[in-house]
Amino acid sequence: MENNLLVSRLQQLGRHFPAVPKNLEQPAVRVAVTGAAGQIGSFLCNFIAQGRMFGPYQKVILQLIELPAAEKVLKGLVMELKDGAYTCVADIIPTTDPMVGFKDADVAVLVGARPRGPGMERSDLLQANAKIFQAQGAAIDQVAKKTVKVCVVGNPANTNALICSQYAPSIPKQNFTALTRLDQSRAISQIADRTGAQVEDVNNIIIWGNHSATQYPDTFNATVRGQPARQVVNDDKWLDGPFLSKVQKRGAEIISVMGKSSAASAAAAACDHVHDLWFGTVPGKYASMAVISDGNTYGIPEGIMYSFPCEILPGGAWSIVQNVPINEFSRAKMDKTAKELLDERKMALGI
Ligand code: NDP
Repeated sequence: MENNLLVSRLQQLGRHFPAVPKNLEQPAVRVAVTGAAGQIGSFLCNFIAQGRMFGPYQKVILQLIELPAAEKVLKGLVMELKDGAYTCVADIIPTTDPMVGFKDADVAVLVGARPRGPGMERSDLLQANAKIFQAQGAAIDQVAKKTVKVCVVGNPANTNALICSQYAPSIPKQNFTALTRLDQSRAISQIADRTGAQVEDVNNIIIWGNHSATQYPDTFNATVRGQPARQVVNDDKWLDGPFLSKVQKRGAEIISVMGKSSAASAAAAACDHVHDLWFGTVPGKYASMAVISDGNTYGIPEGIMYSFPCEILPGGAWSIVQNVPINEFSRAKMDKTAKELLDERKMALGI
């Protein structure tokens, strides 16, 4: 194996098991999770407790927020977390009060969201969630640390993150992000399967736009074992058709096979997203996440939470990777998903 490929592979494999830090006495990280007792939330709490988000040496205080209706399930989750005797867990604070749950939070992962009910229109769903994320934004604004990093998972995740940030004016908009990492992971896994590569050998696939069926998984800049991915795959028809719809509709495919929605993979992706916000990305490797658009980048309108390729410094300062070549095929798909986000913003916020 080429030396730089080996280094890259070790860097990626090593992400979740960093070297023992010099200072083992770092203060515990306070992580708030909403919808903690739900499908994704339960996996997420267990993964965090096992060190997937901050590594095996970092203590965490789990601040678990649920609706009163789910209080009993939350109690059971806490019992299980305690029985796990996880060495990463310093304390667990279960609550139905967001003002308690977000208090002094360093990180907030917002999973709880209103699911689409029978006969519910998309606009009704957006408005119902707008209320939830307004209230959570206001609570975060009042009681979380001003440096809090917020990752929204609950759908429609991008627009929920936008609403949340608007109601937390004292916290920089850059601290609010939405999860498209699962889409990136799904795309990587499809390309790895197709080419016989290991997942860590597939890099820089970009998810542009919304975490919805309009998202655009872009392979034009991706690599497999350091070579251009499209050359390695050598099947443009598959990449521009079945591959795209496979990634875009993977959530629905899992429901049809398993009878319930994906939960462990979503929780794993949320861990990876926050991990990179905390520790930074490996140099030269992009992480897709939805961040606020400033209107000057890749022609995407201002003021929507749009998924871009990002590079992140330790501590969470992110920048959008510049000068990625965009061809006509990509342009049309990037604009389509941007339009959907503008429509969502209009339906949810009237702007
Ligand atoms: P899940 O844990 O399965 O899903 C939670 C949210 O994550 C949904 O909005 C879901 O969207 C979204 N999601 C994002 N990516 C994915 C993905 N790849 N696969 C599946 N879902 C994804 O829902 P549960 O109903 O099990 O749990 C939700 C919990 O949240 C409940 O315990 C409930 O009490 C709580 N809740 C809290 C609220 C609050 O804090 N105010 C409000 C509403 C609920 P989608 O629906 O599109 O699958």
